Amino acid sequence: MSTIPQRLSDILKYIGQAETAAGRRQGSVRLLAVSKAKPATDIIRAYQAGQRHFGESYLQEARDKQRTLSAFNIIWHFIGPIQSNKTKAIACHFSWVHSVDRIKIAQRLSEQRPPHLPPLNICLQVNISGEASKSGISLEQLPSSVDVVSRLPNLHLRGVMAIPAPEADYALQRQPYRQLYRKVSQLKHPELDTFSFGMSGDLLAAISEGATWVRIGTALFGARSEVSPQAIGLSGESFSRSDR
Ligand SMILES: *Cc1c(COP(=O)(O)O)cnc(C)c1O
Repeated sequence: MSTIPQRLSDILKYIGQAETAAGRRQGSVRLLAVSKAKPATDIIRAYQAGQRHFGESYLQEARDKQRTLSAFNIIWHFIGPIQSNKTKAIACHFSWVHSVDRIKIAQRLSEQRPPHLPPLNICLQVNISGEASKSGISLEQLPSSVDVVSRLPNLHLRGVMAIPAPEADYALQRQPYRQLYRKVSQLKHPELDTFSFGMSGDLLAAISEGATWVRIGTALFGARSEVSPQAIGLSGESFSRSDR
C-alpha cells in the first residue's frame, strides 16, 4: 500500500512530466494538497515530506486543524463555498481564498482582512460549465467583476478558479479550461497570474491549459470515505461529487 510521502513524490513527478509535455516551465504548476475530511496526522505526513500549501473547504474543520497544527509553517488556502457570516474568520486565518464567487464576498473579505496581515490572495471562482446549480461568476460577468475586485484595498486578486462539470474524456476536460484561460488573457489585467485549475481526475488536462495551482485531494490522501459533518451541512452541488 502506498503512503502519503510516496504518493506526494509520484504526484510531483507527474506534474513535472505534464509541464514538460505541455511545453511549460518546470515549477510553473504548484500543488495544493486538499486535506478536507482528512485528519491532521495526514497533513503532518505530507508536511514532513515537504508539502507546505494545504487547502480546506469547511471553515470549522479547517480551524480545528489550524489550532492543532499551529506549530507548523503551513500556508492555508480556503477552497470551499463561502457564506457571508464566515468571511471574517476566513479573512483572519487564511493566506489564499480560491472560491470567491461574488463581489459581495470579496468586499467583505477586504473589509475584514486584519491590517497587520499582508493582502489576502484571492481567485474569482468562475462557473465555467454554465450550470445554474453551481456557484461562480459567469464568463460574461468576469471582466466587470475583475475591475471591481482588483481595486479592493486589502485583497490581492491573483486570478481565477474553476471546477468544471465532471468529464472523463481528455479533450472535453480541456475545453472549459481553455475557454477561461483565453478569456482571462483578453482582459486588460496582465497582473493576473493564477489559474486554479484541476483536481485528481483532470490534472493533465488542467496543466495542458495553463493551471498554476492544481488542487489534489484523493490522489494524495486517498478516497474520502466519510463525509465530515461540515461537508453535509455546507456542501453545494459543485462539491458533493468529490465527497463520495
Ligand atoms: C475536494 C476538492 C478538491 C480535491 O478533489 P480531489 O478529486 O479529491 O482531488 C479540489 N478542489 C475543490 C474545490 C474541492 O472541493
